[in-house]
Amino acid sequence: MSLLPPEVVTVCYIVAAVLFILALKGLSNPRTARRANLFGAAGAALAIVAYMLSVELRNLVWIIAAMAVGSVIAVIAARRVQMTQMPQLVAAFNGVGGGAAALVALVEISHSESPWTLGVVAFTVLIGGVSLTGSFVTFGKLQGTITTKAVTFPGLRVLMVLLVVAAVGLGVALVVTGDSLWAYLLLVVGLALGVLLVLPIGGADVPIVISLLNAFTGLAVAASGLVLSNVLLLIAGTLVGASGTILTMAMAKAMGRTVAGIVFGAFRAHVASTTSAAGSDRPVRTMEADDVAILLDYAQRVVIVPGYGLAVAGAHHAAAELAEILRDQGVDVVFGIHPVAGRMPGHMNVLLAEANVPYDALIEMDEVNPRFKTTDLVLVIGANDVVNPAAKTSPGSPIYGMPTLTVADAQQVVFFKRSLSPGFAGIENELFYDPKVSIVLGDAKQTLTKVLSSVKASA
Ligand code: NDP
Repeated sequence: MSLLPPEVVTVCYIVAAVLFILALKGLSNPRTARRANLFGAAGAALAIVAYMLSVELRNLVWIIAAMAVGSVIAVIAARRVQMTQMPQLVAAFNGVGGGAAALVALVEISHSESPWTLGVVAFTVLIGGVSLTGSFVTFGKLQGTITTKAVTFPGLRVLMVLLVVAAVGLGVALVVTGDSLWAYLLLVVGLALGVLLVLPIGGADVPIVISLLNAFTGLAVAASGLVLSNVLLLIAGTLVGASGTILTMAMAKAMGRTVAGIVFGAFRAHVASTTSAAGSDRPVRTMEADDVAILLDYAQRVVIVPGYGLAVAGAHHAAAELAEILRDQGVDVVFGIHPVAGRMPGHMNVLLAEANVPYDALIEMDEVNPRFKTTDLVLVIGANDVVNPAAKTSPGSPIYGMPTLTVADAQQVVFFKRSLSPGFAGIENELFYDPKVSIVLGDAKQTLTKVLSSVKASA
């Protein structure tokens, strides 16, 4: 027997839906993101409680046990994960969401009789499966356990086409017969498609595929809402699907790509120039932190370009302090933000907001690029791919076509990194050998701390 009257449940669902929308709105700005997360969590909690009180639950012990296990895993994972591993965590959560939607649909087959519901089940199982394995392959690429380069093999295109045809055939068979065997086979096809869809995507396209898979999970969840006749699940899934789609399109636009180009273009094998700069014997100019302090003493216009290494080193507070000191000395300092710097959309904005860098000091790529011509000094802190000219000059490169920060237009460029190793895309950076470029070798935080003390000492 239901403990809550249907009207109360509906009101709870409406409140939860409003909380989800407020959460999405708030997440678009680092200032309101923390509160937005709480709104989202509160909406989810309200939805779960309202649902549980609205139906007669037969397996309450199992449900509570599963929720307890899931919560413990989530809390431990969220507490232990480093800031730099956040994108992997998001990829894993996303995959689990897609997998859960697929499981819900599989369970519901026995209650589904109409061709419409069976069709929705087929869609949910397929997309949920794609999302599950696609997200975990992305997880592996971000974690470095799977190569970040595009992986292709002869016959991949044919295999993909065969799998898509098989998926359509199995979906039709499921709708016509209602036999769950077809759904299980469809799940296997979905799982295989997820792997094959993401493996050939590499380099600069990985960030975009993360949000694309997020949109897939949203669609799978929305479809599972249809299967269960649960309006809130439908709303929540649609919100995730829509926001994931908007983010995918915005990122693709910022990267000068098309979504179709990323998904289908990936099937052409990338011939990456994989020569590691570490193995190159060409001379590079190195300098010490004290030398950077001297350069800063003469500079009037400075741009700091942060990248993934800034996050790894945890150097964002030191970078923010340096910028503040320079600004107090009358230097024009801004941060040049590339849309895919770091390992997740908005990674640098979040980090620098945490270090209290004013929002107007974060300048997006299109706006900062023209500034480099009149910039005296660029400090590239733990960034690599986002300033790599190979994106423009090397057609075989995995980042070819990605717009980059044109730091070489400035008078002088200094990289802070530990070695000459490449970045995420695994390709050499010609910029290291440019006569106007110097490198301070070492951990970015240690280097910045030394630069800070030299700057303070000479003030
Ligand atoms: P990169 O991965 O190109 O380069 C990071 C650099 O940081 C490395 O070359 C590394 O060099 C250096 N580094 C690592 N640790 C430290 C440290 N402790 N101190 C100093 N330097 C360090 O990062 P970018 O931000 O330039 O580019 C992002 C890349 O990630 C792009 O290819 C993008 O496509 C991809 N990507 C982005 C996502 C997003 O949504 N933003 C998601 C997934 C991928 P060294 O080892 O020598 O120190």
